[in-house]
Amino acid sequence: MHEMAITQSILDIVLSAGKDAGAQHVRAIRLKTGAYSDVVPSLVQECFDLLARGSIAEHAVLHFEALPLIVRCRGCGWQGEIEKRHIACKACGGQDLEMLSGREFYVDSIEAE
Ligand SMILES: [Zn+2]
Repeated sequence: MHEMAITQSILDIVLSAGKDAGAQHVRAIRLKTGAYSDVVPSLVQECFDLLARGSIAEHAVLHFEALPLIVRCRGCGWQGEIEKRHIACKACGGQDLEMLSGREFYVDSIEAE
């Protein structure tokens, strides 16, 4: 399962960072997700609850922050942020776009004690 693999890698990062910091308990984890990262937050939290059981990250709450979708237009060279609902160049209306940012998914910060 897609989410399970992603969640396992998040947990690995969190546990190793927590260990380095000498944390007793991880309370929250902030994640950045691109508009096209195909990650379902509720599923990731579910997987996390399962995988983190018995570790210092048990009961940690995941916070997801959406990253903007940045594209470059192959037609006119315009570059900027667009809405996922409206995929078109904001300068010329063209749809031949190259995605510069939008598939990211990574751990931004960890709140531990
Ligand atoms: Zn354009």
